[in-house]
Amino acid sequence: MPERFRSNPGRSGFRSPSLSACLIPVLHAAAIERLYDLNVGIIGVSGERHERPHKPLLLLATFDLIDEGLATPERIPWCQELRDRFTSRFNLVRKHDDKNTPDNPFHFLQSEGFWQAWKEQNGKSRPVDAPPLARDFGQVFARFTDGFQYLVALSANRQLMREALISRYFPNLLSSIPPSTIPDLRSRVAEEPLEYGRSPAFRLKIVEIYDHQCAACGLRIKLPAGNDVSFIDAAHLIPFSVSQNDHPTNGLALCKNHHWAMDRNLIAPCPDHHWHVSKILDPRRSTGEKELAALSGQVLLLPQDEAFHPDADGLKWRCEQLIA
Ligand SMILES: [Zn+2]
Repeated sequence: MPERFRSNPGRSGFRSPSLSACLIPVLHAAAIERLYDLNVGIIGVSGERHERPHKPLLLLATFDLIDEGLATPERIPWCQELRDRFTSRFNLVRKHDDKNTPDNPFHFLQSEGFWQAWKEQNGKSRPVDAPPLARDFGQVFARFTDGFQYLVALSANRQLMREALISRYFPNLLSSIPPSTIPDLRSRVAEEPLEYGRSPAFRLKIVEIYDHQCAACGLRIKLPAGNDVSFIDAAHLIPFSVSQNDHPTNGLALCKNHHWAMDRNLIAPCPDHHWHVSKILDPRRSTGEKELAALSGQVLLLPQDEAFHPDADGLKWRCEQLIA
């Protein structure tokens, strides 16, 4: 196992150097965590603020090329076919001033440790230190590193990673991928009951975005880096089983109490960005109900970055589930 194939620094440590079948789910979990946490760049102000789509799009295009036999994990050619696969999805997901520039992620995926780019000239290969140009077609290629070369070699893994990228970055493209016959990764790596979020990568991302703070009560518990235990959960607004949507705008960081209450539709965040509570809660009956009822009308505590504010459709869905 290559030494660098592990969770990001400060995250739960990648645990074993031996590649065996029983560790594949652990490998997948570490890989999915990396995919969920790509340094994509966030741009724009107010309603235009969004994550750039380029890196996840180029990885999807690369998986397509390998599926088609036009690339291998050891050799992803910089070529027109790669640009075409990139462009076809780019046109579906582009926002505002996004530019159709697959050359940038081809270069910058190197600094994320996914691959190394090389240029062949006069029978020799040398590392590439700038985004490739059209005239580099046929001369520049990338080689997966960090253990991704082993994962990406199997089509079942590529499908898992494709589904993860689309759920995380482009949930509007979900209908464009064939239903998977692969058992759901999230259920295989789950360490918590299903209703508490099945994807460790989703949880890590949401908790980071909300800086470990409950969006209802403001409780913040931030344990030392590398500690696997968290009191703050990542809740889906529209459950993953319904939406397959792991985009952070379909998530909310909640403490255990408020996650429990939201999952049972006793409280709900609504499109007015305030909490609403169910009328079945009786503050006179118990102190727990009194505390939940007191949440009524309280403002939803949102992350600083508007790119990750909850999606209005998700809030509406949650509000509609509230027990009348
Ligand atoms: Zn709370």
